[in-house]
Formats: sequence, structure tokens, C-alpha cells
Amino acid sequence: MSDIRGLVIRSTGSWYSVKTGTGQVIDCRLRGKFRLDGMKTTNPIAVGDYVQIHLNEEKTQGSITEIESRRNCVIRKATRMSKQKHIIASNIDLSVLIATVAFPRTSTGFIDRFLVSSEAYNVEPIIVFNKIDLYNDALNEVLLKYTFLYENAGYRVLHISAKEGTNLIQLHHQLKGKVSLLSGHSGVGKSFILNALFKNLNVRTGEISDYHMKGKHTTTFAEMLIPEPDVWLIDTPGIKEFGLVDFEPWELGHWFPEFRRYIPHCRYNNCTHLREPDCAVRDAVDSNIIPPARYYSYLSILNNVEDQDD
Ligand code: GDP
Ligand code: ZN
Repeated sequence: MSDIRGLVIRSTGSWYSVKTGTGQVIDCRLRGKFRLDGMKTTNPIAVGDYVQIHLNEEKTQGSITEIESRRNCVIRKATRMSKQKHIIASNIDLSVLIATVAFPRTSTGFIDRFLVSSEAYNVEPIIVFNKIDLYNDALNEVLLKYTFLYENAGYRVLHISAKEGTNLIQLHHQLKGKVSLLSGHSGVGKSFILNALFKNLNVRTGEISDYHMKGKHTTTFAEMLIPEPDVWLIDTPGIKEFGLVDFEPWELGHWFPEFRRYIPHCRYNNCTHLREPDCAVRDAVDSNIIPPARYYSYLSILNNVEDQDD
């Protein structure tokens, strides 16, 4: 019997749930050893992967015999110190950050790291500010400031209230026809938004983000929800941010869209925009063309990188 193609929608480390073209979900194991591009990963196959599976005689279970090459994938270090990597998800069209300036306020530092990793992994990001029903004048001012900062950098920003249904149609429209990776701090309203958008999902409030509280050492795995035939949502329980792995300091600036047009005018082509002479990026910051807030985020990410390499 020939193999069939399927999409990995869940993984527990040793078992994978694979959805086939007929909509059936088959529990599968890996056959033999998989090694991908020599990449050292704790999981050779991730949610979002397309695979070939071979069904057993009863057609109740299968084994994964082949994996199709990935368009992109989001990775993080398996643990803080280790060199091993964990693939969170693959073949992603849109990376959605649920944020809010109400409680719990999402910091620009966190948003900037989210954007930088989206750039690094080649996934289009979108920032969604939730709970706008709670914003008073002061919070609305913060919202406008943030929105200006990110729209100026070329990113899409939405303002929604899951509670009151404001602008949910716009978010739904963004999710249509795409595989979207959801992230955001616990409490920003991820579950609430999903339930408001898709009545059939019934995500328990708080369930998604509190999952990681159950055990410090358990590896959590992403899961794909398919609430509508053309909406694929990848939820990442317990993973606060995907983070960057293995890049050179001079690369970082390229992941800040406002920096890109200045980088070619720096004296050194591997300029890190720190202390080098004739740095066009720093000149643009000094004359307020690049918002200083973004440059500070850049510095903070750069410093973290250097710390981790020590
Ligand atoms: P999660 O941890 O991101 O899944 O967050 P939840 O969906 O559990 O929501 C956390 C809290 O925020 C809950 O008490 C929700 O009722 C509340 N919440 C979510 N969306 C909104 C909103 O648009 N407006 C207001 N006022 N509260 C919201
Ligand atoms: Zn420079």
C-alpha cells in the first residue's frame, strides 16, 4: 500500500497526530532515525510539517516515513544553556502577537523581540492590542504611541476588544487562508479572543497559558487548531517567546526595518551600530529619524546575545 500525505497537528514527543486529506487524524510514530540538515534538534518533526505516512494493516495507526522540506520554522533553544534546539512549529504564514497596554501591559521590549524573531525566521508578524474597552485617555495615548512606533516600522497593528467584539472581523480577516502562530503573555486574552472568533473551539479561559505551570521540566509542544476549513492556528502553550538562535551581532540590525536603508551607509559592512565610526544608523537615531526607543531595544537584544555567547 502506498504512503499518504498529511499535516502534523500535534506532537507529544514520541507520537504525532497527522491529519490526512480526508480529514482523518491518525496517530503516528517515527520510523527509524530522522536527521534533518545536520540540525541538532530535540524534535525532528514539528507541528506544521507535511509528512508521508504509512498506515498499519488495521489503518488505525501509522508511521512517518518522510518529511517535506520546510518553508520556514520557528526555533528556540531547548534549554537556556544547551546548544540543542527545539522546533516549535513550521510552515507559518503569520505570526500573531496578542498584546495589551492594559493589564498585563506588554512592554515595547517584548514586542521588539517578537518582531525581531519574526523577521529572523522570515514570518510576517502582526501586533494585536486587545482590551481596548478598558483604555482611558492615558492608556489610549500609550496605544497611539505604540501604534505609531510599529506602523512607522512597516508593521500591521490592530486594536480590538474581545469582550465587546470590536474589530474582531479585521482579525478574522487576517487569519483566513493562513497558518498563524499565536503568542502573547498569559492574561492578554488569547483564549477569550479564540472563543469570541470561533464558537466551536471552547478554549477554557486561562487554560492555554497556564499549561506550563504544571511542571517546570516538562517540554510543552505546540498544537494546531483548525476551527474553520481555511484557518490554521498554532498555539504554543507555555512558550513565552521563541527567541533567536545562532546569529552574528552584525545581522541584528537587518531585522529592524527602519535601520535597513541606513545600514549600507555605515563605514563598515559588519557595523553593529554601537561605537564604530561613521555609523549611519546611529546618526539617524541622533537626528530622531529612527525612534530612540527602537534603538534601545536593539541595544538590549544585542547585549543579551553577547551575554549568551559568553
Ligand atoms: P490568556 O491567558 O491570554 O488566554 O487570557 P484569557 O483569555 O484567559 O483572558 C484573561 C482575562 O482578560 C480574562 O479575565 C478575560 O475576561 C479578560 N479579557 C480578555 N479579553 C478582554 C477584553 O477585550 N476586554 C476586557 N475588559 N477583558 C478581557
Ligand atoms: Zn552602523
